[in-house]
Amino acid sequence: MNLFRKIKNFLLSIEDSLSKEHSCILCDREMLDGSKFQICEKCFNNMQKIKEPVCSKCGEALENGNLNCLFCGSFNYAFNSNRSIFYYDDNSSKIIKGLKYNQRKYYAKFIARMMTEDVSVFEKIDVITFVPISSKRKKERGFNQAEEIAKEISKIVGIETIELLEKVKDNKTQAGLSQKERLENLKGTFEIKAGLEDKIKGKNVLIIDDVFTTGATLNECSIVLKTAKPKRVRTLTFAKTRLFSIN
Ligand SMILES: [Zn+2]
Ligand SMILES: [Zn+2]
Repeated sequence: MNLFRKIKNFLLSIEDSLSKEHSCILCDREMLDGSKFQICEKCFNNMQKIKEPVCSKCGEALENGNLNCLFCGSFNYAFNSNRSIFYYDDNSSKIIKGLKYNQRKYYAKFIARMMTEDVSVFEKIDVITFVPISSKRKKERGFNQAEEIAKEISKIVGIETIELLEKVKDNKTQAGLSQKERLENLKGTFEIKAGLEDKIKGKNVLIIDDVFTTGATLNECSIVLKTAKPKRVRTLTFAKTRLFSIN
């Protein structure tokens, strides 16, 4: 991390601790009685929570009595199941963008609290990991947002986070690609970090990421993890793009 970024982050952290402590991270209004998510009641009620019943594979909300959504009826993700907490909309994207692009690293704590409200997701999980970003991207941003969220989740649920995967190759941007092209585009971009196969073999692994768009990234991470023979691979994201809004 260069000096300029260090200073900028330091100043931002002072600004945050001085003035933002009691302000809603979505509407900036002052909150008199605090909130463990740092979101006011009005904004929180506006967030689109993904409610049960959900697709047993990808976590998309289901309106009928089916076990799977239409997409998972014809595509088999490599992970055993995904859960996402909110739909990706103006509110959830504002939180994620604040974390990723505006250096609001402390948002990870609030995101982790929202992601651990339903503890059933963590039942029987042996190890938590996260979707890696390239070292170049990590240098630019100063941190990996998925790693920050995973570490905060670890503190809450008491399950260790281990950096099991690394991004060994940069892929083209996924935006605008079809699902098939996205899957193709990601091949060979992730690897298990040297010597960590034992941490995966026979274990229930949970991969954390910020957003589930088409699931292609989590699918590729799962394919790679599965080469080390885990018992199960589950995935958990803060937000999910609605199935029929993917272009
Ligand atoms: Zn608010
Ligand atoms: Zn599904």
